[in-house]
Amino acid sequence: MPRDTRQRQAIRDVLDDAGRPLSPPDILKVARKRVPGLGQATVYRTIRALVDEGWLVTVELPGQAPHYERSGLAHHHHFRCRQCERVFEVGGCPGNLKSLTPPGFRLEGHELTLYGVCSTCASD
Ligand SMILES: [Zn+2]
Ligand SMILES: [Zn+2]
Repeated sequence: MPRDTRQRQAIRDVLDDAGRPLSPPDILKVARKRVPGLGQATVYRTIRALVDEGWLVTVELPGQAPHYERSGLAHHHHFRCRQCERVFEVGGCPGNLKSLTPPGFRLEGHELTLYGVCSTCASD
């Protein structure tokens, strides 16, 4: 396999295996175990390409560097652990946020980030 393809495959595998949004440094750390010598610039370039192709989407979190997750996931939200800073997917949705919308406003969507301590950090 050409080196480019191998690097790209490793980055996709890392994101598939994680099952949660990752930041570029997270991706680099894990992908480097599979492709020794993988560089930061390659990781950023590959992420950009995967976003352009629609394979990845950017997850914007308040006060955080962008994270990335697979596209095409059902509507969901995120939980950020304040200790380890990992971000997790949360399946549920409170739904019906229309009740929070001021009269006369048209609601078009919402984002919701829960934060606290993950189970791993809570058990330390
Ligand atoms: Zn944690
Ligand atoms: Zn929702």
